[in-house]
Amino acid sequence: MINVTIWNEFLHEKLHEEVTRVYPEGIHIALQKGLASDKLNIRTATLEEAEHGLTEEVLQQTDVLVWWGHMGHDQVADHIVDRVHARVMEGMGLIVLHSAHFSKIFKKLMGTGCDLKWREANEKERIWVVNPGHPIASGIPEYINLEHEEMYGEHFDIPAPDELIFLSWFQGGEVFRSGCTFYRGQGKIFYFRPGHETFPTYYNEHILKVIDNGIHWAKPTITATPVRGNHAPLEIL
Ligand code: ZN
Repeated sequence: MINVTIWNEFLHEKLHEEVTRVYPEGIHIALQKGLASDKLNIRTATLEEAEHGLTEEVLQQTDVLVWWGHMGHDQVADHIVDRVHARVMEGMGLIVLHSAHFSKIFKKLMGTGCDLKWREANEKERIWVVNPGHPIASGIPEYINLEHEEMYGEHFDIPAPDELIFLSWFQGGEVFRSGCTFYRGQGKIFYFRPGHETFPTYYNEHILKVIDNGIHWAKPTITATPVRGNHAPLEIL
């Protein structure tokens, strides 16, 4: 079993009727239900909980953290961001969804501005698989069509991804690197673009499959324990 924590700021769903209609229980609960399987042990956490639901204990028990945020990025306490960052360095996987490109944790891990081009015009998105051999693309068709999504376009201000898995095309003509992996410390990070709060994207079976694949890919692997700092020589000098 992989221990997964789905973190959602859970603000739009309570404030905006058009979002409540799509995700009445919140994006985190929709994802928890959509991803339910005998291989995942899923809990959720939200901004309003004490320590945003991300206590030391919760994070120590989390193999992969899924993050959705938008209007509440600034309300996430810096010491919690540092705590999540430390766990990623130790090997916890992190799945960063949609507008979490501007979350404190993603920006800290990337070290760049993470800005992009955007437009809310209900346009079609076609997500192309550009790395079909990658485990995150397993079982996904050549492309995924989403009839209605927000546009995100290049330039996306991220470091060159370690792996590029999906490339999105939008009806208005823009393209976007919509599925990217990054390795930081012992941790694996997967950024996946779709999931604007007013559209039912997280009910799409292919989108859920990509996130499920991402969780399985990002789970901690048994690695050598890194040794650093001042050290006595192994041979006689
Ligand atoms: Zn959005």
